[in-house]
Amino acid sequence: MARYSGPVCRLCRREGIKLFLKGERCYTDKCAIERRSYPPGQHGQGRGRKATEYSIQLREKQKLKRIYGALEKPFRRMFSLAERRRGVTGENLLLLLERRLDNTVYRMGFATSRSEARQLVRHGHFLVNNRRVTIPSYMVGIGDEVQVREASRKIARILEAAELAQRRGVPEWLEVEKDTFVGRMKALPGRADLTVPVNEQLIVELYSKV
Ligand code: SF4
Repeated sequence: MARYSGPVCRLCRREGIKLFLKGERCYTDKCAIERRSYPPGQHGQGRGRKATEYSIQLREKQKLKRIYGALEKPFRRMFSLAERRRGVTGENLLLLLERRLDNTVYRMGFATSRSEARQLVRHGHFLVNNRRVTIPSYMVGIGDEVQVREASRKIARILEAAELAQRRGVPEWLEVEKDTFVGRMKALPGRADLTVPVNEQLIVELYSKV
């Protein structure tokens, strides 16, 4: 399936929570969820359909995919990888998504949203351990160093993101040197560190049926 190119605020309204897909706007009162917290569309304010077990599981999967901007096929591949790893499948899945380079760039504060991070990575603005990486799904590991290329350090979007990141904060498992535009992954986050509002067990149950 192609990547969704419609208004992203609809996705938040559909899931009924803030997914933080639009950078700075998400932190202002212009956020669509603050103004219209009901689902989009003609029947958005209606009574709605009765939720089934399947629909609840499906919504949980859609929510997680939308937060990280993953398409169905790569998401499914990541789930299979999570299943093959030791430990709890749902937590493994969250960890794999969290380690993606686009997500790491966003968390480090070099982009205002994950979609912007994905685009900046594709355009070659980042080095990982001093080598240019243009693959957003590249897995960042403990000790890896992510750096904005010297030639890209004056890009307005990256500078604005760094400012916004001061308000948002950098998670504990990462460290960032603002002056040199370098970030490092100090450790892998635990489930308690990940504040993603998703019940990953429901996704495991959904995929176990297919
Ligand atoms: Fe979602 Fe951000 Fe739009 Fe608010 S502004 S609805 S958080 S994408």
